[in-house]
Amino acid sequence: MMKSISENVLLVDDSRSLSQYLQQRIQEVTGVNVICANSMAQAQQLLTEHPAHFLVAILDLNLPDAPNGEIIAEFKHTDIPVIVLTGYLSEQLREQLLTQSHIIDYVIKNNPSEIGYIANLVRRIHRNHQIKILIVDDSRSFRLYLQELLHTHCYLTVDAANGEEALQQLNAHRDIRLVLTDFHMPKMNGQELITAIRRQHDRNQLAIIGISDQASPVTSVKLLKAGANDFIAKPFLTEEFFCRITQNIETLEFIDFFRDSAIRDFLTQLHNRRYLFEAGMAHYQKADRGEIKLALALIDIDFFKKVNDTHGHLAGDQVLKKVAQALHQQMQEQDILVRYDSEEFCLLLPGDTLTEAKLMARLNALREAVAALQVPHLDGVLKVTISIGATFKLCESLSAMIDVADAALYQAKESGRNCVHLG
Ligand code: GH3
Ligand code: MG
Ligand code: MG
Repeated sequence: MMKSISENVLLVDDSRSLSQYLQQRIQEVTGVNVICANSMAQAQQLLTEHPAHFLVAILDLNLPDAPNGEIIAEFKHTDIPVIVLTGYLSEQLREQLLTQSHIIDYVIKNNPSEIGYIANLVRRIHRNHQIKILIVDDSRSFRLYLQELLHTHCYLTVDAANGEEALQQLNAHRDIRLVLTDFHMPKMNGQELITAIRRQHDRNQLAIIGISDQASPVTSVKLLKAGANDFIAKPFLTEEFFCRITQNIETLEFIDFFRDSAIRDFLTQLHNRRYLFEAGMAHYQKADRGEIKLALALIDIDFFKKVNDTHGHLAGDQVLKKVAQALHQQMQEQDILVRYDSEEFCLLLPGDTLTEAKLMARLNALREAVAALQVPHLDGVLKVTISIGATFKLCESLSAMIDVADAALYQAKESGRNCVHLG
């Protein structure tokens, strides 16, 4: 079972202006809620009332009732990661802070750019709860050490004592995003392991960081050449460790984002035509082998040009979004719904037990859901209908099915709109 992630940040600072500014920025960047306290007493009360309620705590070292960082100790025995706010930082204070395992970072207050840094850090911690890292090392104590480090930043971890186990773990946990691997291991060394992983996992989907001894720079080169995205030399500062982990994870997230943008429509957030042909092909091939039934429908908003002409393009956009939402709400697991063209959507329905009667019932339900929509506009509401052309015949290609559905859509428009035609 997945542990539920807290959606609250606790911010303890006695400066009202800083608190308000930080609260606003963190909420904007992360979408999580920020609860403010202005003293240690208030923070203690919140902790007692809501234990296990906070994703992360941001604590000022200098509070009216705790002028020397006394508040840090209050969080030592909770699971809550702590970000420290401080007005100054000596080398001694830095050491003192970072040796406490529940403190994940420190920020110097009088630097405005640090506000953005804190907001990003909170967003990172929030996301880390879903990110799984595989630790590979033959030394149990070093595995435990890395595991504890990663847990302070809320990453999920799995581990392996050798290369063979690592490959098994990767098979068992398909959601692993990063592998941290040692070089010197019996049977299969880090270089051999990375080579084996890269046969199946692309560096744009799974990051690998090799850990090597500073004493032998050649190992870093071997690890990188085998396909590691990065390496960390032992011994390392935890700050360097987390900078490298974060950078690698964020690169993967950027790649995910761009990959997703390429197959998604920006306005409606539905998938786009490219996705229809990519993901739809597997269904078409299954249907072609007789393994499943397949239907395809084209859905077009009636007199949409009039909405734009009468109420403006923005109102038209709003209608498009709401129609997309209403259609999306009725989708079943296997269905593929995309924005196909301007105000036209395409729906692919694969199913083992699909019949013509069921298909008509589903499409008419979509039509009725859109007809019932009331899209708020100025002081009133906008209403639209859709016409649907569909086919349940498996043609020689997906494109050919679209042509048949398009002809049926034309008939639906001809016979008065707000209806479903089968071709
Ligand atoms: P019919 O009932 O025959 O489908 O008539 P219609 O007016 O819906 O069809 P037509 O194809 O003539 O007009 C579609 C309009 O959709 C024209 C175009 O300006 C508008 N449109 C296309 N994409 C967008 C968009 O992203 N936002 C908005 N607001 N309008 C769009
Ligand atoms: Mg139209
Ligand atoms: Mg159209």
